[in-house]
Amino acid sequence: MEQRLGNPQNTIAVIQKYDFVFQKKFGQNFLIDTHVLNKIILAAGITKEDLVLEIGPGIGTMTQYLAEAARQVVAVEIDGNLIPILRETLQEYKNITLIHDDILKVDICRLAEQYNEGRPIKVVANLPYYITTPIIMGLFEKQVPVDNITVMVQKEVADRMQVGPGSKDYGALSLAVQYYAKPYLVANVPPNCFLPRPKVGSAVIRLTRYPSPPVQVKDPALMFRLIRACFNQRRKTLQNGLFNSPDLTFSREQIALAIHTLGVSATVRGEVLTLEQFARLADIFSEESLSDD
Ligand code: SAM
Repeated sequence: MEQRLGNPQNTIAVIQKYDFVFQKKFGQNFLIDTHVLNKIILAAGITKEDLVLEIGPGIGTMTQYLAEAARQVVAVEIDGNLIPILRETLQEYKNITLIHDDILKVDICRLAEQYNEGRPIKVVANLPYYITTPIIMGLFEKQVPVDNITVMVQKEVADRMQVGPGSKDYGALSLAVQYYAKPYLVANVPPNCFLPRPKVGSAVIRLTRYPSPPVQVKDPALMFRLIRACFNQRRKTLQNGLFNSPDLTFSREQIALAIHTLGVSATVRGEVLTLEQFARLADIFSEESLSDD
């Protein structure tokens, strides 16, 4: 089979040939729109120098586009039923390595080392929506050398990644993404660009990793514990959110003192704090040796 995938007819032909049955549990919605595919490749800024990691290649539609733009593509697919299909749809491409595995179990730092001598890689994916957050957070927190991550996600998740205080979508994901990367909305993508159609709208977002974070904080892990404590109970005041968190053991007095030093009202909710303020709050706890151990 020598055909460029990306349009509905070719995708349907491949699916019928293999009697492929879509698995909901793997978030399988295949892209069938060439404009969207071209936009993703362009937004990722892929060159012939690049090693691209594709998460969830499906039947290999985007993989073909990636292979044409990049030096090398490593594609990780969990569904064993797709592997023989991928072997056929990608047989013309000599620069693709196909790995049958769960991306959450793959050591991506090692992949970058093995296929790109540890230099920053690009990650491109039409993500399985059920594991968007663990995939993206894993890439950042495990310090995978990445240049940018260009991914299709649920529209609502793309919104959450970009907003600041004052929005109902603002939360731990917004702060984590914005600590590590600069988000840019590439395109909104309607359900009719996929087979089968998802129930929700989608969006392509590019996250360009900062060489160093936009705020300085002595103990980033403590900052993220403070953030989680606030957003796990977002209707509570900052003071109560921090005090009630099972992750933190500061006394009421220590918390009151830190909030006072930060210069915000004792009754403020955590959800109004900016990334800079969370960083400052974490530093206050560290500086005052308010160890919670
Ligand atoms: N890239 C294809 C496309 O755009 O047409 C398919 C995208 S589909 C939304 C998500 C893909 O991720 C599916 O092929 C699915 O089987 C795969 N997948 C789901 N969970 C995965 C996991 N944990 N590790 C690797 N691949 C996974």
